[in-house]
Amino acid sequence: MSKVIRGTTKSSRFVLVDAKEIVQEALNIHKCSPTAIAAFGRLLSGTVMMGTTLKGNDVLTLRTTTDGPLSTMIATINKDGIKGYLSNPEVDLPSLENGQPDVKNLIGKGVLNVIKDLGLKDPYVGVSTIEDGEIAYDIAYYYVTSEQTPTVIALGVELENENTVRSAGGYMIQLMPNAEESFISKLENKIGAIRNITELFKGGMDLERILHLLYEDMEDENNTKLIEEYSILDTREVNYACDCNSEKFYKGIITLAKDELEDILKENGNIEVQCHFCGKKYSFSREDLKDVL
Ligand SMILES: [Zn+2]
Repeated sequence: MSKVIRGTTKSSRFVLVDAKEIVQEALNIHKCSPTAIAAFGRLLSGTVMMGTTLKGNDVLTLRTTTDGPLSTMIATINKDGIKGYLSNPEVDLPSLENGQPDVKNLIGKGVLNVIKDLGLKDPYVGVSTIEDGEIAYDIAYYYVTSEQTPTVIALGVELENENTVRSAGGYMIQLMPNAEESFISKLENKIGAIRNITELFKGGMDLERILHLLYEDMEDENNTKLIEEYSILDTREVNYACDCNSEKFYKGIITLAKDELEDILKENGNIEVQCHFCGKKYSFSREDLKDVL
């Protein structure tokens, strides 16, 4: 079970995510390389953060389309949970000199699509460029350029070994429209001064302690201290969850031409499809398809 907390202060709102379980499930399903899961885990964690504002049956999808080996990643979240897909989970790159995964070069440059289906006639589709390729900055850039909301995001994924996630998650702080300049500089100083998110998790800190660390003793360049009081609005659990079912795949299959279906049935005896998001397999026999043949 992964955990999300969100809340507000006078000058900002915040979301913190512990996405270890979600990223572990994604690793199990997609068999990602170590660098690919570092990238994909960042996207999943970031999408969980962004998804905290969804209501009812809203669906939020983030899709990256880039010129690096990873090519395409998708993460989509609704009230039931988050799921994701990546086109090239096996691609990998050597770690950087500091031991960090080379997420930037695995992703490369390209486009981030933010698609919000709020139950209206057409979904909202935001388009932003991916310049940095480490996802955190790219999502923050989207918020600044598309939603005019100054945003700071930290994301990290650390593995214990190639099959096991040690930690994953991060935090996002967004400035309220009325935030004072002095708060912004204090926040920047603070984030520059604390250890990165992976090290905080490694040090055994949970989300509440990280939240406290972010807002306690903020200082501006004149060393004026300020304790920004925060209040947690809600704490929730989010799982990796796929809502696929046999009926959905049936509807997809019957859009194929009749002779195409016949060819597959002749060759394989039945038609097997696999869900991109969760890996579940569905099999349709000639009997299942008798209405459309
Ligand atoms: Zn599925």
